[in-house]
Amino acid sequence: MLKLAGKIFDGTRVIERGMVVVEGNQIVEVEEGVEEGDAIHGFIMPGMIDAHLHFFGVHEDNVLSWNLVNEIDVAIRSTRDMETLLRAGFTTVRDLGSKVATRLSRLEASGEIIGPRVIASGYSLAITGGDDDPKDLPLDVAQRLSYSFYCDSPYECRKAVRLAVRQGATVIKVYASGAFSQGGKILPGLGPDELKSIVEESHRFGLRVASHAYGREAILNSVEAGVDTIEHGLGLDEETASLMKERGTCYIPTLATYEIPFHVSNPEVRRYREEAVSRHMKEDVKLARSAGLKIATGTDYVGSDSRPHGRNYREAVLLSQFLSNHEVLASTTSIAGECLGLRVGKIERGYLADLVVLKADPTQNVENLSPENVIHVVRNGKIYRGAGLGV
Ligand SMILES: [Zn+2]
Repeated sequence: MLKLAGKIFDGTRVIERGMVVVEGNQIVEVEEGVEEGDAIHGFIMPGMIDAHLHFFGVHEDNVLSWNLVNEIDVAIRSTRDMETLLRAGFTTVRDLGSKVATRLSRLEASGEIIGPRVIASGYSLAITGGDDDPKDLPLDVAQRLSYSFYCDSPYECRKAVRLAVRQGATVIKVYASGAFSQGGKILPGLGPDELKSIVEESHRFGLRVASHAYGREAILNSVEAGVDTIEHGLGLDEETASLMKERGTCYIPTLATYEIPFHVSNPEVRRYREEAVSRHMKEDVKLARSAGLKIATGTDYVGSDSRPHGRNYREAVLLSQFLSNHEVLASTTSIAGECLGLRVGKIERGYLADLVVLKADPTQNVENLSPENVIHVVRNGKIYRGAGLGV
């Protein structure tokens, strides 16, 4: 039995002095108040969740490198990134497209490697010639190297879902748009008929669908098709936000990825991208919040030098410009857990014992979620970081 005492954020509210009791892999009791003489461990909260990342295992930040990188290197670097994430207080992550994540997920679940629980899409689903298709390569070579299945009709996309399921996918990732092209246009991705068939097939397998969506059209197509989460979601407007609210679709704005300088050579494309990103960084989360959407933390970090795994708490810091500190903590724990459809992210009887103990109180300052403040990390009831818990 493991007992942790201190100020607690349970996923929705704060308990000033309380005790969490863990038995096996579960939380069995949350007590208010602590006994005289009980050791105070620190600020206790559910393990954090990054609902959108990639295990790319590569230093560079460009699509050709992500495709060309040697797969053994990807596996080795990603195994290291898994451990870094866990030590930084992340106990669940969702990989939305990589070559190794379904394997990492299995190896972690069987206890062969150390890291957060991994929800993995396996390969993502995208159109031929989309943004993640390195178009300088011959198509057959690109498809062989890609971390996406290219699919171009409702039937091909249905099959692509089955191929992802065959890889061991526990979520399905789709590209409902590309990014920006000349003239400020957002490149199209999978169309409404393809998205509908993907959602239908994924839900038949009990899997949620996460949609990369830039711009109003892609968001609308995705939400109407019934996807479960909107990723990035640049260009959210009142109509799309209220439709998302109605459908219960989660919003994962991945602000952390947009604070990193991104090289775009074409000046016109660069200007449009900068405009859309700046609006996203200033307005979209405000709108999502006033529409009452479920907003979850996701960084879109890939493990590169500029988007390194381990610093993923940045998303919470950026969200705190628009949300109260309590709301941010819920976004990175209980709301993210709900958006992923998992029984994690809460300190409640019957929940899995995924816990972080921090030196300093993040309800005062969200920067206190940084890895430097992490004292203990408990996952599935097992202590992975920090000694002196008397067990
Ligand atoms: Zn991504």
